[in-house]
Amino acid sequence: MNDLNELLTRREKLLGPNLPTFYDTPVHLVKGKDVWVWDKEGTKYLDCYNNVPHVGHCHPKVVEAITKQASTLNTHTRYLHEGILNYVEKLTDTFDHNLTTAIMTCTGSEANDIAIRMAQTITGSKGIISTDHTYHGNTALVSQLSSTNPSNDKLFKYFKHIPAPDSYRPLGEGTSHEYSDIFALELEKSILELQKENTNFAGLIICPFFANEGFPKLQKGWLNPVQDIVTKYNGVLIADEVQPGFGRLGSTMWAHDFIGIKPDIVTIGKPMANGHPVGAVITSNKNMETFRNSYRYFNTFGGNPVSCAASLSVLNIIEEEKLMENAQSVGDYAIKGLQDLSKVYEIIGDVRGEGLFFGVELVLDRKLKTPAKDITNKIVNEMKEEGVLLSKLGINYNTLKIRPPMSFSLKNADFLLEKLDKVLLRNKI
Ligand code: PMP
Repeated sequence: MNDLNELLTRREKLLGPNLPTFYDTPVHLVKGKDVWVWDKEGTKYLDCYNNVPHVGHCHPKVVEAITKQASTLNTHTRYLHEGILNYVEKLTDTFDHNLTTAIMTCTGSEANDIAIRMAQTITGSKGIISTDHTYHGNTALVSQLSSTNPSNDKLFKYFKHIPAPDSYRPLGEGTSHEYSDIFALELEKSILELQKENTNFAGLIICPFFANEGFPKLQKGWLNPVQDIVTKYNGVLIADEVQPGFGRLGSTMWAHDFIGIKPDIVTIGKPMANGHPVGAVITSNKNMETFRNSYRYFNTFGGNPVSCAASLSVLNIIEEEKLMENAQSVGDYAIKGLQDLSKVYEIIGDVRGEGLFFGVELVLDRKLKTPAKDITNKIVNEMKEEGVLLSKLGINYNTLKIRPPMSFSLKNADFLLEKLDKVLLRNKI
């Protein structure tokens, strides 16, 4: 048995079956630095996928912040500590309306679980709506909303799905209706159904960039009709910023600012502490008071001094290294490169993205827009063999997902484009 098979067998024995791995032949990573990772054999890969090491794998300043705090004190929030206050102060300064208080958690799932309970407490209603191709986490509550990692249970009767936006194949295409209005009408229809079933509407939870849905191209203002409907029915708007937040889109720190909505609750996670497990829920003082008075919420690890030190260092590095400006310029450059490739390769149906979150939707036929699901999977695997880690997602799993650490450079973008050109040529249709 070779090393890889031995590891997989041991993994299954110790961790159980049906545990997902990326790629047909999984990668055994042992080291990371900035945008690069190395496997056990010493093969170097350009990381075009991982948004968790937001400021770069093993950034020395994050490592230093963690080490310094871990060697001084680590406790929980039942003791007083300035670390959490310094962090929440700096974090809430990045929001432009009344998102002023936070609960710190260890994962995005926990943050969304709280956000849903908060929306239900604020409104006194239970009904939660999300899109039908999303993922908001793995707790018993939020996994109910997931279609990408579905739970085996039936959807709670007070949870409903509306069709995920798809700018490449928009609902109502060819009619005179604006797609944004159609999406908002779907929301209203679901709210009315909830009311008919005697479950009133508590809130809508969406990723404002619709990252798991395949990041459709949506202009600023596209979600305004949605915001109006949520307000009309006295619901709570939850923006799940776990994927697009922390400046990834380049021009704004948060995707809800990019699209132009004002959520009542924001949830964050993944990139927040560069790999240290941290998440948070941010809301107004008033909403927080309502929630805190209803739940004596406590999270043993959430908001511990080491997590706060790591999180604070990430915010500082984003500023110091001008990573949002970098995301914007390198992202624009990479998208232009992908558009150039789309002139050569028919299989590229659509190029889209913003900042350092971009990709291409692959189709067998540009006219019919038939998803090239199998070739997409093949391309992802061949890119890995070429030393580039990326993945796929979207409603039909035929969209290449490129979401590298924020220090991704023009040179890195050239490397990615050169390898993609090579792999697309090999798979030309
Ligand atoms: N929300 C979104 C949009 C996500 O993509 C994810 C994770 N992929 C989560 C929430 C859950 O985060 P975590 O895995 O940290 O619980």
